Amino acid sequence: MKSKGSAYINTIGCQMNVYDSEKLALILNSNGYRQTSDMDQADIVVCNTCSIRHKAEEKAFSFLGRFARIKKKNPHLVIVMAGCVAQQEGKKAFKRVPHLDIVLGTQAFSRFGRHIAAVKAGRQKIVDIEDSQKIYETMPDTSEFDFDRLKENKISRFVTIMQGCENFCTYCVVPYVRGKERSRKPESIIKEISLLAESGIKEINLLGQNVNSYGQQEGDTSFAQLLFQVSKIQGIQRIRFATSHPKDLSMELIHAIKDLDKVCNHLHLPVQSGSDKILGKMNRGYSRQTYIKRILDLRKQCPGIGISTDIIVGFPSETRDDFSDTMDLLREIKFDSIFAFAYSDRSSAPASKFSHQVEEKEKADRLNNLLELQEHYTKEKNLSLIGKTLEILVEGKSAKKHNGFEKNRKNLEQMTGRSECNKIVHFPSEHATVGDLIKIKIKNAYPHSLWGYPAGVLN
Ligand code: SAM
Ligand code: SF4
Repeated sequence: MKSKGSAYINTIGCQMNVYDSEKLALILNSNGYRQTSDMDQADIVVCNTCSIRHKAEEKAFSFLGRFARIKKKNPHLVIVMAGCVAQQEGKKAFKRVPHLDIVLGTQAFSRFGRHIAAVKAGRQKIVDIEDSQKIYETMPDTSEFDFDRLKENKISRFVTIMQGCENFCTYCVVPYVRGKERSRKPESIIKEISLLAESGIKEINLLGQNVNSYGQQEGDTSFAQLLFQVSKIQGIQRIRFATSHPKDLSMELIHAIKDLDKVCNHLHLPVQSGSDKILGKMNRGYSRQTYIKRILDLRKQCPGIGISTDIIVGFPSETRDDFSDTMDLLREIKFDSIFAFAYSDRSSAPASKFSHQVEEKEKADRLNNLLELQEHYTKEKNLSLIGKTLEILVEGKSAKKHNGFEKNRKNLEQMTGRSECNKIVHFPSEHATVGDLIKIKIKNAYPHSLWGYPAGVLN
């Protein structure tokens, strides 16, 4: 197709948004617009937004706000707000960003090409926040254009396997901006991953808000069975997935992690709080004890498994004692890593109406204390790996040079990759190339990475 111009996409938020932006790029490409990394030269600017926390939402408005002046100079520039903030705000988005052309909700992506053509033909201010049954089935699979992009040194890709969420955790906007939980058909997922494997992708990260309930709304394939099917695809060497909900973590899934070689020995299992009172108010559907039991089951079946989690501090009515329960949970479980957030009030989520909101300063203090405690365990976990040999999927050249790196040895590159447990590992190598699986003996551990030598080369 003849090029009609170029498009710049700014992605804010989670891995699912990264996947959605890749789909937006494919749609734009099939409509004649190639992707550019130069926003000043673009004919179309898209901001794929996130509304999970106030800060992310503000980031979207501030990015789009910058184009007011540019749009005045160049009225043909098409400006698009896509994703969660678009879905949440609808036509209200024009109040804060009057120069917007299209507000494209989370379920409207398949109609994006049509909306671009309408704006180019003179239509103004399009809002599409309609519900759609099967958003991912109607988005394009990978294409030749995508194949070219994939060659740009990528070995790992996200593939979204389900949309929406119906868990209604009281702090969370996802059920309101991403709609009902619906699973993609296994055939559609397998076809997409097979195409990615053909193009050289080695690692697949399956995405959903609650992958453990995959297939429960329709069909007869469970998530563990889907993992089995994906693991049979030739060329795919590693499978990761996120996010698992503790209330739906089945023994079937634990056995899939244990038995399927390609499924990485790592699980991201968000706990959110260590206090039963707060877990109840969050509507999480499990107790602290149930969560601990799941972790014990996991560690028994899958020794050495890496476990990470999400935690929210300062949820309404969280007392210092409740927060201490969370700190104690960290001491008890010793996670490999955590993602911690100060509670952010979202007006569409029920918790915004809860009494006893925690002061911002108190939230910030709790967040710092939590991160400080976790740093100790992350370091401890990393130190325990010294002397072990880990299998690493090589991702590329390392940006940071290690102190002990032998500068004088010719032909040695410092490379980087990840272990199955999701640890970043740097190592020197003469021959390793992107996509190789290579055994590395760990020599040093740092707060956020490990360092070692190819096993069998040096001891
Ligand atoms: N579906 C996943 C689950 O159940 O854990 C997580 C989805 S959410 C996109 C990612 C993380 O953002 C959550 O695990 C939670 O810790 C955090 N989060 C969600 N809403 C939040 C809020 N209102 N304030 C602070 N953090 C929030
Ligand atoms: Fe949000 Fe809860 Fe659904 Fe996760 S499970 S997306 S936190 S409502």
